[in-house]
Amino acid sequence: MTSPQKRDTRHDILFEPLAIGPKIARNRFYQVPHCNGMGHREPNALASMRGMKAQGGWAVVSTEEVEIHPSSEVSPSIEGRLWDDGDIAYHAHVVEAIQKHGALAAIELVYNAPRTNLFSRLSPMGVRAAPVASEWREPREARAMDKSDIADLRRWHRQAVRRAMQAGYDLIYVYAGHDLALLQQFLSPANNDRTDEYGGSLQNRMRLLREILEETQSEVAGRCGVPVRLALEEAQYADGLQRDEIEEIISELDGLTDLWDFCMGSWSADSRTARFSQEGFQEDYVRGLKRLSQKPVVGVGRFTSPDEMTRQIRSGVLDFIGAARPSIADPFLPNKIEEGRSNDLRECIGCNMCVAGDMQSVPLRCTQNPTMGEEWRRGWHPEKIAPGKHVAGAPQTRILIIGGGPAGLEAAHQLGKRGYEVALAEARKEMGGRVLTESRLPGLGSYARVAHYRLGQIEKLPNVSLFPGSVMDASAILEFGASDVILATGAKWRRNGQGREHASGFVPPDRSDALPILTPDDVLAMRDPRQILPGARDDPRPILIYDDDHAILGGAMAEYLRLAGYRVTLLTPAPLVAYWTQLTLEQPAIEQRLVQAGVTIHTRCQALHLDAEAVHFRQMPGGETLSVACRALLIVAGRQSDRLLYGDLQARSSTWSRHGLRAVHLIGDAQAPGMIAHAVYSGHLFAREFAPAPANARNPTNPPGSDNLFKREQWRKP
Ligand code: ADP
Ligand code: SF4
Repeated sequence: MTSPQKRDTRHDILFEPLAIGPKIARNRFYQVPHCNGMGHREPNALASMRGMKAQGGWAVVSTEEVEIHPSSEVSPSIEGRLWDDGDIAYHAHVVEAIQKHGALAAIELVYNAPRTNLFSRLSPMGVRAAPVASEWREPREARAMDKSDIADLRRWHRQAVRRAMQAGYDLIYVYAGHDLALLQQFLSPANNDRTDEYGGSLQNRMRLLREILEETQSEVAGRCGVPVRLALEEAQYADGLQRDEIEEIISELDGLTDLWDFCMGSWSADSRTARFSQEGFQEDYVRGLKRLSQKPVVGVGRFTSPDEMTRQIRSGVLDFIGAARPSIADPFLPNKIEEGRSNDLRECIGCNMCVAGDMQSVPLRCTQNPTMGEEWRRGWHPEKIAPGKHVAGAPQTRILIIGGGPAGLEAAHQLGKRGYEVALAEARKEMGGRVLTESRLPGLGSYARVAHYRLGQIEKLPNVSLFPGSVMDASAILEFGASDVILATGAKWRRNGQGREHASGFVPPDRSDALPILTPDDVLAMRDPRQILPGARDDPRPILIYDDDHAILGGAMAEYLRLAGYRVTLLTPAPLVAYWTQLTLEQPAIEQRLVQAGVTIHTRCQALHLDAEAVHFRQMPGGETLSVACRALLIVAGRQSDRLLYGDLQARSSTWSRHGLRAVHLIGDAQAPGMIAHAVYSGHLFAREFAPAPANARNPTNPPGSDNLFKREQWRKP
């Protein structure tokens, strides 16, 4: 339920309705198209996820890109499809889920820049004859489209518009962005080398976009709005689209569009992580374009601050606040602002875990919002959770959580919301666990939001008590008298190099050399990084980082130490530094930043052994030895769950019943080390499925309900 009278009047402008062609958007919150890894494969999940955002107050809820024809399909990525009439029914289901909550449903039709067409096996075609776009650099080339290909494409787009209207969409996109859409490649001087009337001058390069827009408008005939998603730069090319050309395109085609949705010229430039961009970072590109147009403008920038959103609208940069990630992290963002509850916003941290899901062709997940992707299959609502059950005659459930990291905080928040009596003890003076320390690394300040959001919510729950600065041992836990103990004690970085590459590490336990060995825990334990190795900043020998973790931490540690004045060399067994971060679209940016910071990088190096002066590596593929003299070795490899307490409690299990203790559970990194998203999810899953154990039953390790399967999209007889 919304209660407009409660909102901060400074934000009133965010709630003014605005027309998009023939349709009226109820406010200025616009969920722009975003991929989700569900697409045509999981339409029920997709509909529930989109519907949740409509319920949360977004005025426009868009699909992901929807392929209009199998000759430009992006498998193994999972996007939408509107290939033939058979796809209309699932789109109608998505539309219904969105419209029933009063939002406009938008569809982003796409004919992709040429891909291999792994699924359809059709011959790819593009603006020019060239190898297709492919993560695997597949040896497949597209043919240059001839006049009949262009005629086919126009016909397919028109058919798709008709089908989209049949499905009931309010807004039907023409897409020329992100270097994903063929229409951008026609515009782009870097891609378009044609000598016919579709190449050469800007007028020629925009001919196809103009034709498709005219045909889309003629097809919808005033019954739907037609937004255009347009790339504003092409920094990835030396000779990409220039600003004056973009301005000319907008001026020329303004009469044919009903809204401009501005984006960057590549996905990685658009969905930059917090490490490489601030909230509202696209303002520099968008500012000034509205004056060229009579139509509303939407733009993105990981907006979570209503003040900043208001400023962008009042200052004439935008008309609609576009969001993909902020709507994933908090589908109820608009309603919360409208209800004057900005403090309850679950702010996106800009980590791109969501992007990684789509990149791996699985339903997207979100670090901040563990219910994302679970709306249909588990029936999870981001704001609601079922009250806890009390077993008649059983003693009162009294839950004690040990550890105030992401897992412990999420479990405390959700169990508290379910009405249970919860106490959370944390050894440190401040709550937050790993996010508290990791958020001190360069560019990762927003990670602290994981803790801040949960602490803010817990504060409102009188049945949840926090005990910071409380180091708990088994005796203290038993004396506390809890019925259920949840160990969210986290994990420690291993000191011996054990991890992916070395099953039992490469640092012997009984070594006699004096080379200091550090882990990220040691580095982050120091508030002032200059104190980590006093004196080493004047030493010509570097701190050597061995990164067998491959996510962001190794690179972030390198940057952190470099900024503190140490020399730093980073080695990794992977072929690229921060290999996994290709999935968050930030690997090239990380590498560039490290090079600029003066970090020496060696890839494809396998650690062999170390002595007092150096660490010795085998270089692959040749097998030559590389010896790196260093001041200290920082190992970022495997982690080990902290189960000390778990072992102690198990050893005293015969005394549990005397203390009223029924079950001890492990969650988060204490259960299995992972990323922050995994810990939050683990705490959430536990809280959702927790049921008090019968009086004398013990359930020591398994999370309750781990036998429960979730719903799956079912095969139906054709
Ligand atoms: P996760 O990611 O699983 O939430 P973290 O490592 O972020 O794990 O957090 C674990 C937290 O548990 C840390 O803040 C740590 O201080 C706390 N902790 C570990 N052992 C104890 C203990 N014996 N008593 C109280 N707190 C503990
Ligand atoms: Fe934001 Fe990270 Fe969630 Fe994506 S996964 S929406 S970047 S918090």
